[in-house]
Amino acid sequence: MNRSTSAQLYEEALQHIVGGVNSPSRSFKAVGGGAPVFMKRAGGSRFWDEDGNEYIDYLAAYGPIITGHAHPHITAAITEAAQNGLLYGTPTQLEIKLAKMLKEAIPSMDKVRFVNSGTEAVMTTIRVARAYTKRSKIVKFAGCYHGHSDLVLVAAGSGPSTLGIPDSAGVPGSIAQEVITVPFNDLDSLRAALEKWGEDVAAVMVEPIVGNFGMVMPKPGFLEGLCKLAHDNGSLVIYDEVITAFRFHYGSTQTYAGLDNHEDITPDLTALGKIIGGGLPIGAYGGRKHVMEQVAPLGPAYQAGTMAGNPASISAGIACLEVLQGAGVYEEMERLAIRLTEGLQASADRHGIPLTINRIRGAFSTHFCAHPITNYEEAQDTDGEMFASFFRHMLDRGINLAPSKYEAWFMTTAHTDADIDATLEAAEASYQAMAAEK
Ligand code: PMP
Repeated sequence: MNRSTSAQLYEEALQHIVGGVNSPSRSFKAVGGGAPVFMKRAGGSRFWDEDGNEYIDYLAAYGPIITGHAHPHITAAITEAAQNGLLYGTPTQLEIKLAKMLKEAIPSMDKVRFVNSGTEAVMTTIRVARAYTKRSKIVKFAGCYHGHSDLVLVAAGSGPSTLGIPDSAGVPGSIAQEVITVPFNDLDSLRAALEKWGEDVAAVMVEPIVGNFGMVMPKPGFLEGLCKLAHDNGSLVIYDEVITAFRFHYGSTQTYAGLDNHEDITPDLTALGKIIGGGLPIGAYGGRKHVMEQVAPLGPAYQAGTMAGNPASISAGIACLEVLQGAGVYEEMERLAIRLTEGLQASADRHGIPLTINRIRGAFSTHFCAHPITNYEEAQDTDGEMFASFFRHMLDRGINLAPSKYEAWFMTTAHTDADIDATLEAAEASYQAMAAEK
């Protein structure tokens, strides 16, 4: 496949944009480097690059594009919003509509506030939890990603009862001291952390179903135990559902049928993003009324935004959720994901390639290893070089995946059986080539 225009554009981009990309996840650093593909156009399940190559897309822009690219209902909503004026700096009726839709789908959100990204949403939930509890520390789980604000770019110290260390240059050690990182699916470590630091812990924050080191379900009882330990300790529970809300069903983890005891796994605050903006920038957070009343103008915790709740993002979000309300939408994404994962597994098995797939309805992750993936350590312990090889073989055969061994494949409402057939054919050829390279 000729991608010479992408290569040229990458050289040019490097002159002007740091690293040539506007988010490090878009670079090919984790898959051996070189020029990323410069896409020109997208429609439905497909992408076309600057060289005219066509791809089937499973990246879905890291999640938001659940209805496929350029969905006509969303495009119409954005067009109408643009024609009516892009930004007012005043409240609008549209914001109420999307807030009500979110509240109906996620019952623990008594009150909502819109922001512009998942990062902002998470960052503010932490501030609100600190304001409400008058405590400063947070507990989070290794490998969960919560955006790029200081407090969440902190890695685990040497054990469950040690404080964190900065995970990025520019994050002061003093801030890392406010964070304790423990392994996902490990209540004993959480208990130990709370025993040591409990009276300072404002919140325990988690991706309740993990989307950032593969798709990983909480073990039975994990979320119940987490909520109980946190609440017994006087800490709030924050669910980062930026990836997971509206991903598996029309709702969030707290209402997902794959998990029981919804009352026992209800968080105090939830952070949202991605799907709820239908492809435009958005974030939102919400939760219990008395906790949310900490937020300005009602309370002392400040959060604001020039672009927050802008009519285009809100209109796109409403339109996207309307598409997802359609009958059988999630069932169809799941049906295609089952076909695809069963085919990928059978093909890998045939070629003697170790593959573990974690699938949750229409989203799944592929790990080159023979062990199950239930936490970050296990996800790290997979073959990155094999992933890089698979990624490149698939790309050359017109399949667009995220350039990272940790990221998921996302099914959209635009994918078809023909896409699955073509993807399985590409995978069979890729595995064959990889087996030959061994
Ligand atoms: N939380 C989670 C769980 C995420 O996956 C992400 C983005 N991948 C974020 C927060 C940050 O969202 P954004 O990139 O919109 O700032």
